[in-house]
Amino acid sequence: MSKRLFTVLFLFPILALASGAPEAPARKNAGWESYSNLQNGNMRFYEGRLKHPNQTPERREALATGQKPHTIVVACSDSRVGPETIFDQGLGDLFTVRLAGNVITTEAIASIEYAVEHLGPKLLIVVGHESCGAVGAAINSKPGVSNGSESLDTLVNKIRGNLTPSSMANAANDKTFRQPVKDNVDANLRELLKRSDIVREAVAKKGLVLAQGIYSLKTGRVEFWDLGTKLAGGEEEETFADGPVILEHQVVEENIARVPAAKPVKKKKAAPAPAAPEEFPEPPAETQAPAAEAPADDHDHHGH
Ligand SMILES: [Zn+2]
Repeated sequence: MSKRLFTVLFLFPILALASGAPEAPARKNAGWESYSNLQNGNMRFYEGRLKHPNQTPERREALATGQKPHTIVVACSDSRVGPETIFDQGLGDLFTVRLAGNVITTEAIASIEYAVEHLGPKLLIVVGHESCGAVGAAINSKPGVSNGSESLDTLVNKIRGNLTPSSMANAANDKTFRQPVKDNVDANLRELLKRSDIVREAVAKKGLVLAQGIYSLKTGRVEFWDLGTKLAGGEEEETFADGPVILEHQVVEENIARVPAAKPVKKKKAAPAPAAPEEFPEPPAETQAPAAEAPADDHDHHGH
């Protein structure tokens, strides 16, 4: 075993534990492999080591008769956040649903349900991004004043309804809108769970893993958190801590130092711990009715 591999397999989790991250969860299903796949791809993107996997003529031809994407990504339409690019994925890897503000609409739900029913994805992630224009519009526009069209007003009002007063206030001090963007991601995932029996059932019976992320336009890093799995009744120990996930990275020693430093959340600077998952609500006892107990306007857990 090479020194580097040893470091990756053993030292990294130990360091993660020492820094306060939870113990490494067991890789219970393919959803975790998909999650690691995205983390590793984002790490390559972040460090400029893109592999551009699955983009050969052979891959293209192999996919001509069918697809089996490992992950559904709900993302913003913003030109700077293309999921295949920021996660270094290729043809047939990601089933993407993109609307401004990564909102969940009836058509978005239908697209997701189609994929869940027919394509066998193992992971679903809603990923927002810093400085999202749609979230910014929801923060800065005045209620009752049109944003230019009925359609734009519908979008902006929908996002505004996802934001808490505290995150609106937070936006005044953080022009990247991190907290409002994260609130909007949480709310959209809640809405998906509330409105889609197919998605809830896939989580309960097919092992579909849910996650949320926020992408930093400046650093290229995606920070994940785990409300979705808990919301859907997932086991509490299944947290998406950055630390315990085994990376394929070649120079993990550098990684440990650089990743936390790259996060623009100042108070999180010291440790690669999860984004305060303990602040999220406990999973509901009834797996089938998570949304009923978590209405879209319930954001008390973000009041920090
Ligand atoms: Zn956006």
